[in-house]
Amino acid sequence: MKKFDCIIVGAGLSGLACARTLVEQAKSVLILESTDSPGGRVGTDTVNGFQIDRGFQVYLDSYPEGKKFLDYPSLNFGAFEPGALVAHRGRLLPISDPWRRPYAAIRSVLSGVVGVPDGLRVAYLRNQVMAGVRTGKIDPISISNDQEKTTREELVSRGFSSEFIQLFFEPFFGGVFLERDLTTASQVFEFTFAMFSLGSACLPAGGMAAIPRQMVQKLPSGCLETLAPVTKVVNESVGGWEVAIADGRRLCAGSVVISAAAVENTPLLPAGILTTWTPPAWKSTRLVAFESDKKPSCDKTLVVSSEPIEKGPIDNLSTPSAVAEGYAREGKNLIYVSIRDDWEGEDELLPVAIRKQARAWFGAEVEQWNHVTTVSVPHALPVETPTSRRQRFQSNRLAPGLFLCGDHLTTSSINGALAAGRLAAEEVLRSA
Ligand SMILES: Cc1cc2nc3c(=O)[nH]c(=O)nc-3n(C[C@H](O)[C@H](O)[C@H](O)COP(=O)(O)OP(=O)(O)OC[C@H]3O[C@@H](n4cnc5c(N)ncnc54)[C@H](O)[C@@H]3O)c2cc1C
Repeated sequence: MKKFDCIIVGAGLSGLACARTLVEQAKSVLILESTDSPGGRVGTDTVNGFQIDRGFQVYLDSYPEGKKFLDYPSLNFGAFEPGALVAHRGRLLPISDPWRRPYAAIRSVLSGVVGVPDGLRVAYLRNQVMAGVRTGKIDPISISNDQEKTTREELVSRGFSSEFIQLFFEPFFGGVFLERDLTTASQVFEFTFAMFSLGSACLPAGGMAAIPRQMVQKLPSGCLETLAPVTKVVNESVGGWEVAIADGRRLCAGSVVISAAAVENTPLLPAGILTTWTPPAWKSTRLVAFESDKKPSCDKTLVVSSEPIEKGPIDNLSTPSAVAEGYAREGKNLIYVSIRDDWEGEDELLPVAIRKQARAWFGAEVEQWNHVTTVSVPHALPVETPTSRRQRFQSNRLAPGLFLCGDHLTTSSINGALAAGRLAAEEVLRSA
């Protein structure tokens, strides 16, 4: 029986980054993926000729791990405009990045959307977090100490007014973290704020699935088996590990790396391993896609809603077909709406509720938005409060030759998943 240097369970971005790092060191690798395609939580489905991402996601082109693994030119990224349009009391208010759109930012201040003190605090925060990332002081992969704050506590301690927190930080970062209470740890917030400041929020041509697809293309052929759910990982007597697949096959490897998302619910591992770990709770989201003949006036700018939940379910709204190529059918526009987690209505009620709320922002044209599909993502991001970060895996090494990867170990983002995969591979290489 062929023995691989390493078998990786799960072809999410962390598993793919792990494989790439090992292959570059001439190791023989097999990735086993339970579904029919690689990418895990980063996926795109074609519905009526439109590319529908599995939940609204963006790639930040400043991600340091992405720069290591991805070939940017061939992903043909399109970028969102910096800043956002904030929906407030039925109007869309622009909040711009003063460094990249100085005149627009001055307008935001002059029109009273951003007060001068809050504008100065944003400037100070921006400089501090960019310097922190450059010097390595802000790194959400390491947990700084027991005193980690929540994002909201951090913003309050920096003196931001409650009006500005409600107007900008809650809807913008609530959409990024999929929670508006801003309980996500401040290290994660500061790193993410730095990434938005250092680069652009992008979409690859044709949908987010282009990212894992490119990762697979850069692996030797035959490295990935899809529709191969792993059911058991057992210690082999001759040194190494045996991996059982649902179809009855058993494969051997010197090392096994398991995506953390794969060990949550299934007893994959031998007794005695991972008995004390409590998986974090998951944050969920829904995406509703519409098509229209007319491009919404927001064009390449993200719209975030600071309106109360009684006004409607919209968390944020974007036009991916205006940002990147290949999202919509010829002559059509594609509109994504992310739904707030505190809106409790059923899926069927969403298109009507969205049109009702967005009518105040875009006018009667919203009646011509045709519903394409609704996507539910119950397991989108693991909770990342200071407490849950302290309870996460302290090491990616479970036993000799047995390792974990995945965003549960670092931070729940594309950057975090790629980092977790690379770090697991480096641990495999060290222990070989
Ligand atoms: C809706 C949404 C919005 C997001 N927004 C952003 C964003 O804007 N920017 C950003 O940077 N990040 C964002 N993220 C986060 C980012 O997508 C994830 O952090 C990252 O994709 C996680 O990758 P992973 O490899 O750790 O896990 P996963 O992608 O979950 O991969 C785990 C893989 O293991 C497979 N698997 C599980 N069990 C088994 C088994 N028994 N055998 C074989 N295979 C198995 C699964 O099928 C899956 O493919 C978002 C995520 C979601 C869902």
